[in-house]
Amino acid sequence: MGRREFLEAAATAAGAAALFSARSASADVAAGANPFDRAMRWGQLAFVENDPGRYDPQFWLDYFVRTHCDAVTLSAGGVVAFYPTKVPFHRPSAWMKEGMDPFGELASACRQRGLLVLARVDPHAVYDDARAAHPDWIAVDDKGQPRRHWANPDMWVTCALGPRNFENVTEIVREIATLYDVQGIFANRWAGSGMCYCENCRALFKAAAGKELPGPSPDDPARRDHILWRRQRLRDLWDVWDAAISSVRPGARFIPNGPPGLDSAAHAPFLAVDHQARRGLTVPWDFGRSAKQYRAVMGDKPLAGLFSVGVEEPYRWKDSVQSGPEIRLWALDGIANGFRPWFTKFSGVLYDHRWLATVEDLYSWHHKNERYLRNQAPLARVAVVYSEQTRDFYGKDAAEARVDDHLKGMYHALVEARVPFEMVNDTRLDGADVDRYKLLVLPNLAALSDAQCRSLATYVDRGGSLLATFETSLYDEAGAPRKDFGLRDVLGVSFDGQVDRRMQNSYLALDAEARRTHPLLRGLQDAPRIINSVQRVRVRPRGEFPSPVTLIPSYPDLPMEHVFPRVEKTAERQVYLREQGTSRIVYFPGDLDRTFWEVLAPDHGRLLANAVQWAANEAPPVTVTGPGLFDVTAWRQKDSLTVHLVNLTNAMAMKGPVREFVAVGPMTVTVRLPAGARARGVRLLVAETQPKAEETGGAVTVVVPAVRDHEVVAVDL
Ligand SMILES: [Zn+2]
Repeated sequence: MGRREFLEAAATAAGAAALFSARSASADVAAGANPFDRAMRWGQLAFVENDPGRYDPQFWLDYFVRTHCDAVTLSAGGVVAFYPTKVPFHRPSAWMKEGMDPFGELASACRQRGLLVLARVDPHAVYDDARAAHPDWIAVDDKGQPRRHWANPDMWVTCALGPRNFENVTEIVREIATLYDVQGIFANRWAGSGMCYCENCRALFKAAAGKELPGPSPDDPARRDHILWRRQRLRDLWDVWDAAISSVRPGARFIPNGPPGLDSAAHAPFLAVDHQARRGLTVPWDFGRSAKQYRAVMGDKPLAGLFSVGVEEPYRWKDSVQSGPEIRLWALDGIANGFRPWFTKFSGVLYDHRWLATVEDLYSWHHKNERYLRNQAPLARVAVVYSEQTRDFYGKDAAEARVDDHLKGMYHALVEARVPFEMVNDTRLDGADVDRYKLLVLPNLAALSDAQCRSLATYVDRGGSLLATFETSLYDEAGAPRKDFGLRDVLGVSFDGQVDRRMQNSYLALDAEARRTHPLLRGLQDAPRIINSVQRVRVRPRGEFPSPVTLIPSYPDLPMEHVFPRVEKTAERQVYLREQGTSRIVYFPGDLDRTFWEVLAPDHGRLLANAVQWAANEAPPVTVTGPGLFDVTAWRQKDSLTVHLVNLTNAMAMKGPVREFVAVGPMTVTVRLPAGARARGVRLLVAETQPKAEETGGAVTVVVPAVRDHEVVAVDL
């Protein structure tokens, strides 16, 4: 179909469009439903300026239909307007001829086919004319100079917190929502491009915090105030845009790309998490990790995982295409962890078509099995707590090493152990947010307030278990060191005044009797000692403890003649195990999780997995046995349970791109049924077979012959 026919088809279907739009957003709002909930699959086309008149809208419309997209995001404006705009300094694409409306045409055609439409805007840059008329729109660097765009010297970077966003972009989003039947406006790069020292930011921050803007030092006393102020300012902006949009189109919402502070994600009716692909050393479970982190705040609101089809390295080959298996594995791990897939493509004119079949194949499977992918709740009984305040105020400019690497090590140990688990945001440590879990894992959750420590203590009093490592609770919520652990009573230890930041050639002695009998040391029967972690907090026990694991202190690692332990054995415990009713508490004073991430020693992985199992103190909801590395997740839907097995067994598991899948199996999967429930049938949603299932003792066991990239075991209830 040519361009003229596309337009004519759009015109003849206008009546249907009007009917549909009357039904969708406003009807859903009236019914109290979340209008975004019906969208299971998303597509995004971000126009480039020369797309108008050059790209084929019918091709994209067909592709959205073929991939069963329920919703699309299309570029409307911001840097470049793709519709006829009247807002000053909102420059239309130079390729738009008189009468053209590329955004409006494609949006309208998508609406006629029943798709939700989000209009994409990007406010992060303007041209010279805007800067000349409104110098206060422009971001300023620490030397007082207005910031030219780092990638495009024709443009200027805008300040996110001043009139450019609060006034000019508000006009833009109001205009789009007035002119077009959109269900929301999605803003990319809306939160600024780093620290801004403009007059507005100076004055507003001074008024709010009574301080000058912080300099580059991570220890600047104004830094924390500024982080918190900036987030609040962005939340205010979010409200301004949301109100501007819904005032002209009831039910339509502002959807930010990235909330200001993850805990504010709950403010949104729906979000897309922009984590487009792997780069450098990234594990394929990292997309699923972001799903867990956002769901911890969003609850059961719909959440999309925004993935790209291109190579996401710092060189930004935006027109590239990844290998099919790499795109697929990344997206699959997100889906297994509760994301609704959202592919994104920049440029309506394609230079490389290879990704199209990959996404179509994946989306077709997703569409076919949709009822097993509308999850109601995860079955996990273990949750890892994460803490933005620990990253921001304890980790500071070294947050990756001091905070993230602990989380990654713990995460990887849980994946290797095939423990289905969730994550919990540390602003939600009370009531139902934590009581659905038997065990909370605190991987160096260093910065905790007194109130957060009390929440964790009462969680334990209610029967919950804890596993903590290293400096957990040794700092307050602002990152100031405490004299003793905030959790000293729960962990049963006190700080002894010293943290060893590097232990060379140190070991853990595993007690001979405990190796035979204690579940903590299962699988380590033949290991009288294993390597120690690299750092450790020195602590004093506040009561009686068993001693299954004790310290063998560092001894010289050179010259070789001197490499022998000076002390064979000490009584200094390197794990503290407590029981309180049905609660179990494990504390590792070492940075065992972080060292595991750095070294990946299997003994450390086993010790962490055993500690999780011991502390959980109950039968797991799902067990998976067989070879390989799998991300295992488990879910409840309306009339079914599912277990996702994402096969990460691959030579490129820790660094992409994946070239090929390596089938692994057979895998034996056992899933516990809810009390009183019976399995009506079991099917494998990828193999499309009905395996022989055994039901005993309230659990169903099936054997999955082989898993290529993923399998979903679905149990109908
Ligand atoms: Zn500014």
